[in-house]
Amino acid sequence: FQSKLPNIQTNIFTIMSRLAAEHQALNLSQGFPNFPSEPALKALVSEAMAAGHNQYAPMPGIPELREVIVQKMELLYGATYDPETEVTVTVGASQAIYNIISSFVSPGDEVIIFKPAYDCYEPVTELHGGKPVLIQLRPDFSVDWEEVKQKISPKTRMIIINSPHNPSGSILSREDMLTLESLLKDTDIILLSDEVYEHIIFDGEQHQSAALFPGLAERAFITISLGKTFHNTGWKVGYCLAPAPLMHELRKTHQFNVFCVDHPMQKAYAAYMKEAENYMGLSSFYQQKRDYFLDLIKTSRFSFTPAKGTYFQLLDYSRITDEADTEFASRLVREKKLAAIPISVFNMNNADNKVLRFCFAKTDETLEKAAEIICSI
Ligand code: PMP
Ligand code: GLN
Repeated sequence: FQSKLPNIQTNIFTIMSRLAAEHQALNLSQGFPNFPSEPALKALVSEAMAAGHNQYAPMPGIPELREVIVQKMELLYGATYDPETEVTVTVGASQAIYNIISSFVSPGDEVIIFKPAYDCYEPVTELHGGKPVLIQLRPDFSVDWEEVKQKISPKTRMIIINSPHNPSGSILSREDMLTLESLLKDTDIILLSDEVYEHIIFDGEQHQSAALFPGLAERAFITISLGKTFHNTGWKVGYCLAPAPLMHELRKTHQFNVFCVDHPMQKAYAAYMKEAENYMGLSSFYQQKRDYFLDLIKTSRFSFTPAKGTYFQLLDYSRITDEADTEFASRLVREKKLAAIPISVFNMNNADNKVLRFCFAKTDETLEKAAEIICSI
């Protein structure tokens, strides 16, 4: 048979987590917390199971979860979404992203993607015959909007943004969003705004959701991951929001892709998210982790700019060795028992900038052990 994705290998998260397990290394590679989710939230899953919510959920998600999601959008961004027609619960943000691209990208369509980029955007675009149009972020990970303007063509079907940004930890500003809004005016380009780290933003910055900008919201799918927000990435529940006509199209693929999402988990989240305080404190929680980690490694030979959002920190090792980042990451696991992600895998042409990504969604004890290793290199 002919492979539809001949250049795609097993992705880096699987490779590094497997390697970390093999070598009993501290795993700061794949992005997931190593501390438990709230006991109260877990208890709600058991309660939902005991109460008999073990059959298929409604296709777009259970009404009470869609209702709390809409209330959250109103509370956080003053945005109005209709829970009946404008929210769909998905199998993590990943399935939302897949279905959004699948629903709208046809052979020959162009999709603008900023590099470095989270790993699924390009292959899913290609799988549907779309052409990724790649734009390099500047060295400080800001966007060159002039280049975006030049790259928009009559074939541009979609533009994908991600703020706070994986892997760099950078964020888009209000000015960025206003510029994008003016560039997209009078076009029919769909915006996929991947906002899975909406609650993890530091130093008093505000998350600039596409929902805050009418000219963006009218054409935007916003994707969210509840696993990121509630420390349970393995539950694989997320959702997307969009104006009704766009969501109507999305649900056509969603119903044939998974049809619906785990029922007991939806029940639990719906009950738990009724209390806004259960998701409002996340930025300060992760800022403490970021600051603690960076303070512990400040005397190391790695250099860094503190992440502005996400639970990832990039560390530049160019003062230590000129090894390729994939080799250095592999050696770090084998010899030092510490796993990180080489960010060349997210870069344009896999360019190697001698930078590794470390996930600091870890207990203080794990961060201390990791810092000890980092300082010894
Ligand atoms: N987008 C980004 C930027 C991510 O980092 C991730 C996963 N960490 C996802 C989407 C996928 O989220 P989920 O685990 O909910 O599928
Ligand atoms: N988003 C997570 C990360 O960036 C990993 C998700 C996955 O393993 N696919 O590390």
